[in-house]
Amino acid sequence: MIKVCKFGGTSMADGTNIRRVAEIFNSDPARRYLVVSAPGKRFGGDAKITDLLYETHRSVAERGETGVFSKVRERFCGIVRELGISLDIEGLLSETEESILRERSEEFTASRGEYLIGRITAEFLGIPFVDARDCVRFGEDGKLDGETTYALCSAALKGKKRAVISGFYGADAEGRVHTFSRGGSDVSGAIVARAVGADLYENWTDVSGFLACDPRIVDSPAHIDVLSYRELRELSYMGANVLHSESIFPVREANIPILIKNTFRPSDEGTRIVPAAGYIPPARPVTGIAGKKNFAVIFIEKSLMNSEIGFARRILSVLEERGVSFEHMPSGIDTISFVIDEAELQEGMLAEIEREICKRVCPDQCKTLTDISLIAVVGHGMSKNVGTSARLFDAIARAGVNVRMIDQGSSELNIIVGVDNENYERTLRAVYDEFFR
Ligand code: ASP
Repeated sequence: MIKVCKFGGTSMADGTNIRRVAEIFNSDPARRYLVVSAPGKRFGGDAKITDLLYETHRSVAERGETGVFSKVRERFCGIVRELGISLDIEGLLSETEESILRERSEEFTASRGEYLIGRITAEFLGIPFVDARDCVRFGEDGKLDGETTYALCSAALKGKKRAVISGFYGADAEGRVHTFSRGGSDVSGAIVARAVGADLYENWTDVSGFLACDPRIVDSPAHIDVLSYRELRELSYMGANVLHSESIFPVREANIPILIKNTFRPSDEGTRIVPAAGYIPPARPVTGIAGKKNFAVIFIEKSLMNSEIGFARRILSVLEERGVSFEHMPSGIDTISFVIDEAELQEGMLAEIEREICKRVCPDQCKTLTDISLIAVVGHGMSKNVGTSARLFDAIARAGVNVRMIDQGSSELNIIVGVDNENYERTLRAVYDEFFR
């Protein structure tokens, strides 16, 4: 039995927490590989090491000096002191500072949090450290080169009974450090699990797993015991951010289950994420609800659009030429809509896109809605329960909310509803109450 454990930023935040991590890791001989995040916040208002490193990079780029790196130095020296290890942390930090000034790369600088805490944790546990720069590879397109990565990782870990591996980054073919997006150590953990053929990927964080809805909006939402990979993907993509939304890909291909656990309440059961095959969905139709604000919807209507060959392609080329990706594309016989994350759009771009679409496909109508929130209602159980959408829309109507857009995924696994931003919280509560209270 091999377990790969990834510990998040809060778990690594200070010496006391790292001792806790070590205790968990050492308490089960199946826990063989430990993937670390950079130290996170110790208390509200504290800084995450990764944020300080991004700031360090900005000072290097703008003023040629490392600025807040002194705070990074203080944090790591404090951790080493608390752990009472003999690592020459001052020397390591000076070397790191020099290489930050030399490399002048944002990704290299950002990655140093995971590198340094990896070195410290390995020293504390008395086991080898494996630098992700040597075994996680990105292709020219900036995407993970899975095949090379799994081969390099398994070679690096072969013969090592236990090891610490730095999360969040890897390198391109030239050896330049490249990072995942924020929270990417979750992906690193999944990669290591896949590379060593783990039986379980344990993801240790500061909550006891997934909740059926955002606890900042809904009072004490239900705990989710089991989720399928696909449900997880839908929920985490839509903002349930316990786990990086890309972390399922490596483990899903190898059917390795993920277990979300709480470092600070290790006896809590957590949430288990499993392949759809063999997964028995709960009796209730909905497993979880998640949502995000700030989308734009471009709505296009044209009679007989279905018989116009290349219609969608011409619209898509307008988006493609501007480097804009879309999230969803709900369509009817004579209508098609594109849902775009507003963060993707520069000032004035939406109006320009609308003009260009009108020019290229001469629609009967083209209009744009902005400040839309999307709410995803997710659950394998939906396909087997008659009347789920009736209950959903009835609940939203009873809350007095106007639905601006509907998209049912072809898998019958989710229904996505668009409402005005101002109705977001109200809608989430109404939908949650309908399916969970
Ligand atoms: N340290 C990185 C971040 O703060 C990656 C991670 O923690 O997963 O985003």
